[in-house]
Amino acid sequence: MQPKTLALVAHDHKKNALLNWVKAHQPTLQQCKLVATGTTGAMLSEHTGLAITRYQSGPLGGDQQIGALIAEGSLDALFFFWDPLNPAPHDPDVKALLRLCSVWNVPVACNEATADMLVTSPLFLSADYQVQKPQY
Ligand code: PGA
Repeated sequence: MQPKTLALVAHDHKKNALLNWVKAHQPTLQQCKLVATGTTGAMLSEHTGLAITRYQSGPLGGDQQIGALIAEGSLDALFFFWDPLNPAPHDPDVKALLRLCSVWNVPVACNEATADMLVTSPLFLSADYQVQKPQY
């Protein structure tokens, strides 16, 4: 079975929360192919040693690169700790990324509680569970 491809993104005020979450679930996450926006990926790999493919920083197009993975059917789940309390210069990209998760039925977690439940679901690494892709 192909390893799942997961994307990890955190806005600046949420980076510590994502780091702590990744550390708590590292045994599961290291069975997956990991991608991330630039600063998030650098921070996570520095503090965990995980191999992470890094795209551009979010404000420079990284969110859109992850969106492209979704559009081509190459992303299995998104962990996106976005910041609800501070404006982001790339807010349209943030919305676009979340929108594509809904368009293509990609599991997405925007906070620790949802991320905990997603990654510990028996369906998460199951070879038997196929996400239904909408037929447009
Ligand atoms: P960053 O981007 O990982 O480069 O900080 C995250 C984002 O703002 O989407």
